[in-house]
Amino acid sequence: MLKIDNELEKLKPSILNHLKTIVDINSNSENVNGNNEILIFIKNELINMGFYVEIINQHSVGATLVARNYSELHDEEQAILLLGHSDTVFPDDDTDSWAFTTAFGKCYGPGVLDMKGGLSQIIFALKILKATNNTYKPVKIIIASDEENGHLHSDFTNILKQYSTDVKCTLCCESGRPDGAFVIGRKGVGRMDILSEGIEAHAGYELDNGVNAILNLTSLIEHIQRNKVHLSKEKQHFNLGKLNGGTEVNVVPGHAKAEFDVRFFTEQDFTSLVNWVKKNIEQCTADKPDANFSMNSVIEYPAMEVNEKNMALFHNVATIMEGAGMEQPRYVFVSGGADSSYISSFQIPVICAFGPAGNFNHTKREFIYVDSLFERIKLLALCITQL
Ligand SMILES: [Zn+2]
Repeated sequence: MLKIDNELEKLKPSILNHLKTIVDINSNSENVNGNNEILIFIKNELINMGFYVEIINQHSVGATLVARNYSELHDEEQAILLLGHSDTVFPDDDTDSWAFTTAFGKCYGPGVLDMKGGLSQIIFALKILKATNNTYKPVKIIIASDEENGHLHSDFTNILKQYSTDVKCTLCCESGRPDGAFVIGRKGVGRMDILSEGIEAHAGYELDNGVNAILNLTSLIEHIQRNKVHLSKEKQHFNLGKLNGGTEVNVVPGHAKAEFDVRFFTEQDFTSLVNWVKKNIEQCTADKPDANFSMNSVIEYPAMEVNEKNMALFHNVATIMEGAGMEQPRYVFVSGGADSSYISSFQIPVICAFGPAGNFNHTKREFIYVDSLFERIKLLALCITQL
């Protein structure tokens, strides 16, 4: 362990430089060139460390990087998967005047927490192990460049499934929590869209011949909100986030759309909520014969259900931390989706928020603690050798 500590000490300035390099490359999820530039930078470093690296191009978004330090696995051997993403939520014109800085023990900059700190963590954990001649087991790395928009326009989730069949456990180096707690479960994220069709008509001459799609939709929403109290607590986590409709103020609106964000513990909870909403639609249509609704629902992120596998992995990491004299970690269950949810749905043990601790992701106040960056690099190096 002393060798690892010494190497880490020596590398501290390079670690901050590395993080600066990738933070200062604009990489909004839609910025194909920026994301690919980061992936190529990382690819070259991994190749220098003896990894096999594939860059899998996508049609309209940045690529996916898949790397491994083995050509094939023997017997029962399986790899540790380190998971991450290179994209951020910040548009390029937002980040032009905003760059990597360090002050008072913190690093700032677009994506420093979510999750470029985690990318530097992966690279330097491996560099330290290489420099100290530590032997370690098979490691696989998968980095997406469209995590922040839920992989809406890519084949990433299929790639993840296909490439994780030889994986025994996953450390998702996503944004660390402010107190460094690990995420062992996440609510799933889904959507429900309700469309209302009416009849467009001139608001002056033909008011009585029109059917107002907005009014029908708002009365349905009211109905849903009023009945919500009869649902079990687990199924009440949904939010009407967007409401659109109509064309001009002097036209009876013929179309309207309500978009709901849904968070759920299990897929079954989501399905039964969707069925409950459908029942509400039937009730509402029975009262209003001119109302015409349709509904679409989709699961964007499966739930990362708290299970024994994830808990066992958490306890193994806690034991490694204890052995290294690090403070014992806490675990939390959160409501936000991440790629760790997919891994969990493939029945692979995973813990998330393994990256450096910080706060305020998705805002310009986002930061990580410099000390946590170094500690999490060391922890990852130890996990790669001991898990
Ligand atoms: Zn993230």
